[in-house]
Amino acid sequence: MRTRISKQFRWEMGHRLAHHAGLCKNIHGHSYEAHVILAGEPDDQGMVMDYFDMKTLVQPLIDELDHCFLCDRSDDVMVDFFTDHPMKVVYIDVPTTAENIAHMLADAIWARLGEHTAIDELTVRVYETEKTYAEVTNKRR
Ligand SMILES: [Zn+2]
Repeated sequence: MRTRISKQFRWEMGHRLAHHAGLCKNIHGHSYEAHVILAGEPDDQGMVMDYFDMKTLVQPLIDELDHCFLCDRSDDVMVDFFTDHPMKVVYIDVPTTAENIAHMLADAIWARLGEHTAIDELTVRVYETEKTYAEVTNKRR
């Protein structure tokens, strides 16, 4: 029977939305949480995917983001700052919204699923606060 499994990941990260009219243009951070949800037919061991394997697959992506500043490459002020003051920065080509972070993680996890062909659907839900999340779903065609 097709089944969904989920694992949660947490990390701390700074960001800003440079072109936002409100408070989000200021440098700030969040305690992010991602729920990674996989769906498919369980194998003969009764597992969609071993949770340990899920952690092995996802945690390196989270570690890359943990305690970094996620920087929109079009944010000249921050790019100049980090050029002068090297720190842990991850650059992306889009605004650093929860929506784009969910897309980024979903694409990276999807690309790593490789031999796990029984998994036909991946959902990544990124919580920026306890009350707000963005969710992206990738499906195998
Ligand atoms: Zn924010």
